[in-house]
Amino acid sequence: MASIFTRIVNGEIPCNKIAETATCFAFLDINPLATGHVLVIPKREVDYIFDLEDHELAELMSFTKVIAAALKATVPCKRIGMTVIGLEVPHTHIHLIPINQVDDMNFGKPKLKFTAEELELIAIKIRSNLK
Ligand code: 5GP
Repeated sequence: MASIFTRIVNGEIPCNKIAETATCFAFLDINPLATGHVLVIPKREVDYIFDLEDHELAELMSFTKVIAAALKATVPCKRIGMTVIGLEVPHTHIHLIPINQVDDMNFGKPKLKFTAEELELIAIKIRSNLK
């Protein structure tokens, strides 16, 4: 069965899309740790990031760099933190999170709550800063 992220890529499940290429896709995390928490995925459904082919990993990183720049231009922060966990959804995904201190990457913290409209507004702003 297709992963929830493949279903998002295929448009079967809605998301707050940021951008896509032929091989990668970026969208807002539905349960964000911070304003502008983005997930970046390869379209090909591979559970574990280090099982990607080298060229797929390179494409994913290049795309992630573009998304991180747009995110940094949108959300005031010291830098964009990047992490891969993947224990919940078996489809490689990179978390991009605006951070000011190390605790901002603490996944044990309560998630933020936004309305659908607020999430889409954040996505619009990030999209407007894509280069
Ligand atoms: P991980 O697998 O890295 O532990 O976490 C999976 C992440 O995917 C979580 O941060 C969770 O909020 C996010 N997530 C799970 N299901 C959905 C979904 O249907 N839509 C979106 N946008 N994010 C999701």
